[in-house]
Amino acid sequence: MEKGKVRFIQNPVIEEPVWKRIIVDSNLPKTLEPLRILSRNLWWVWNTEARELFQYIDAEIWEECEHNPIVLLDRVSYNRYRELEKDEHFLGKMHYAAELFNNYMEARKTLEGPEIAYFSMEYGLHDSLKIFSGGLGILAGDYLKEASDSKVNLVAVGLLYRYGYFKQTLNLHGEQMANYDAQQFSKIPVQPALDAAGNWVSVEVEYPGRTLIARVWQTNVGSVKLYLLDADHHDNSEADRFVTHHLYGGDNENRLKQEMLLGLGGIKALNKLGYNSDVYHCNEGHAAFIGIERIAGLIQNENLTFAEAKEAVSASTVFTTHTPVPAGHDSFHNDMFRHYMNFFPAKLGLVWEEFDMLGKTRKEEDHFNMSYLASNLSHGINGVSMLHGDVSKAVLKDLYKGYMEEELEIGYVTNGVHYPTWAAQEWKDIHKKYFGEEFPSTQLNFDVWKNIYNVPDAEIWELRKKLRQKMINYIKQRFSDNWIKRSENPKLITEVMGKLNPNTLTIGFARRFATYKRAHLLFRNLDNLSKIVNNPDRPVQFIFAGKAHPADKAGQDLIKHIVEVSKMPEFRGKILFVQNYDMNLAKMLLQGVDIWMNTPTRPLEASGTSGEKGVMNGTLHFSVLDGWWVEGYQKNAGWALPAERTYDVQDFQDELDAETIYDILEQEVVPAYYERNSQDIPEKWVGFVKNTIANVAPHFTTGRMIKDYQDRYYNPQFDRSKKVKADSFKLAKELAEWKAKVASKWDAIEVKKIEIIDGITHKMVMGDKYPVRVCVDLNGLTHNEVGLEVVITETEDGGNENIVATLEFEGEKCEGNVCCYKSIVAPDHPGSFSYSFRLFPKHEALPHRQDFKYVKWIS
Ligand SMILES: *Cc1c(COP(=O)(O)O)cnc(C)c1O
Repeated sequence: MEKGKVRFIQNPVIEEPVWKRIIVDSNLPKTLEPLRILSRNLWWVWNTEARELFQYIDAEIWEECEHNPIVLLDRVSYNRYRELEKDEHFLGKMHYAAELFNNYMEARKTLEGPEIAYFSMEYGLHDSLKIFSGGLGILAGDYLKEASDSKVNLVAVGLLYRYGYFKQTLNLHGEQMANYDAQQFSKIPVQPALDAAGNWVSVEVEYPGRTLIARVWQTNVGSVKLYLLDADHHDNSEADRFVTHHLYGGDNENRLKQEMLLGLGGIKALNKLGYNSDVYHCNEGHAAFIGIERIAGLIQNENLTFAEAKEAVSASTVFTTHTPVPAGHDSFHNDMFRHYMNFFPAKLGLVWEEFDMLGKTRKEEDHFNMSYLASNLSHGINGVSMLHGDVSKAVLKDLYKGYMEEELEIGYVTNGVHYPTWAAQEWKDIHKKYFGEEFPSTQLNFDVWKNIYNVPDAEIWELRKKLRQKMINYIKQRFSDNWIKRSENPKLITEVMGKLNPNTLTIGFARRFATYKRAHLLFRNLDNLSKIVNNPDRPVQFIFAGKAHPADKAGQDLIKHIVEVSKMPEFRGKILFVQNYDMNLAKMLLQGVDIWMNTPTRPLEASGTSGEKGVMNGTLHFSVLDGWWVEGYQKNAGWALPAERTYDVQDFQDELDAETIYDILEQEVVPAYYERNSQDIPEKWVGFVKNTIANVAPHFTTGRMIKDYQDRYYNPQFDRSKKVKADSFKLAKELAEWKAKVASKWDAIEVKKIEIIDGITHKMVMGDKYPVRVCVDLNGLTHNEVGLEVVITETEDGGNENIVATLEFEGEKCEGNVCCYKSIVAPDHPGSFSYSFRLFPKHEALPHRQDFKYVKWIS
């Protein structure tokens, strides 16, 4: 009320209500106690025995509460529990599931191998725990489940969001509405994380002029514990409570606050909980602050310098980058970044400028880049598919001047998906029958999957039909509920429902509506599309789903366009857009459709995982050769759009790709599906399904993925980091001291003489030998500390230099500071090459060259 309008002279005295908390426990009788235990560990998500149990209790409530067993158990009536207590069948199932669970947990009481601390901004474990938005999160969620299954000693850290990511509804015009539902933390599988003394753990993070206090929650994912930090409580100001409200919401400043909480707070949380992990895995740059917080800890507790602590921290950190374009990497503007992080350099014994350079390649840059920070503090860096590994080299190359892109020590581990989460129960049954009872614990033996060839065609085709039917029923239900809610014309609903056909070749396309994913491709020529879907003998239907980020207008327009097309008379019931793509819908679609389609602009799909979920269900993949499909595609096991880019102009490329898609559909896909043998089985199609399961699927599980991380990163880094830390960080100190010495002398290193005996002339003869000697004033360093090599390159048509060979020289003799190196250059194939000499620091304990980025090119 405005001043001056106040009419009461005296404020009335109003007693504030005093709320007293009461907790009414659910009715769950003692005999049914195992249900509560099962509901509190996400193990139930990927174990059908437990899932079926909850569904059995009350199928209707189970659907209403969106498969949240905690809510279910609260809502089931006392009478129903009384019935269940007497239901022998149910009790048998319950005890069986409880026994499986107990055995599972018992087998994971003591674990071997290094302890991994895994950090991610999001985790997609189940739709009822809204702390994920899409691919990145679901990957992290799958990874935790696999870590538990594979008995990997892993602990994870993330944020608990009050609202998470949005729920999508579409209005009559196909416009996307974003709804955020608050999560009640008592209704989701989180519990207060307690320290050894039984106190609820909280951590403090410094913000400008104040301290944020975050509570720590614990989620159990089988044997893996996931700790979630939450700022939304009374100890924080209103504004700061917002920090953990939304995933990828708010502005860049809120993102910085979140990342400070995740990185700085996450390490503090693990410390308070008594963890001292061996290897830290930074899933995407969001959590890169873990590196500086750990360095600060070592400086304080072990009395190390920044340089020494950095050796120890980098040795034990793996950084996985998921983003294929520079603009996609998180970065914060200088002014804001300094406002928030100004207090930190002092903890590291650095001045601001030194600290700032951890996130930059040149000091003039106006943003601090989180991927640069993560790269600078991680000895292991990887992309998420073979192609993306190379793409990441291009993205990060500015950090390693003096080295050529292809030389960079950036590897890859191709993403995978968690078999027990994504394979249909019907497939699991077949796999157990033909692959052996132990499956999926034998999933890493790829030969086991070849037993799919022993399954009769009819059995596979029946299964595919069943899953398609199940999916169509589910879609009809979900679709008509939504359409009725938004008051669509009943005639239209009936028409669409009537036309959807469980026997029709069904193609699924569901993903985030980002422009590079090119969902529009299929709609470039509506006449062509209409011809394909309306072929009277061989029809095709498409099911679309996916969200667009609330700030992405182009993505939302695309959804709107698809909805509009789907209402045109010729596309009704042929093109369907189902709203609110979530894990459950993904599962139904990936198991039920015949083809999963993906049409990204290459190479922007770093990996993609949805197609991997499809292939383990015998869903054939049809995609651009990008991300995982570069490695996955095989002839007669799906379809691929060629990798070559024909046009520079994107629009032309899109046109060409669209035509190619129509063509492949009409010429190859449709005939393979509709040509049937005498038993009405499409032999060729089933052959493709078998090839897919035998030869493609086994390579894209999280089982394979976690093994790759162990072999390529965790185990080698653990071994090395033990050495770095041994004897009170002796090697860390040695390396830091040596690097400082080399750095101080490097610039004054000077070439005295390059002696090309017999001459590398403009014309060299293949097979001949050309001895070379190079003498350098090493400024007091030795042969053993400075290597010299010749780098021979070939220039490609496009102007790119490709390395043909590098040849390290042998140290010869030193006179005073001047040391000579010699080698023999012997060309072994003809062509036109360039060569140059390069000096680099050498130490046997370096993990790789780019760990110490000093390079001097000489000529
Ligand atoms: C698997 C999955 C994704 C990621 O799929 P991409 O192939 O990477 O686009 C996104 N959302 C949901 C719901 C998923 O299940």
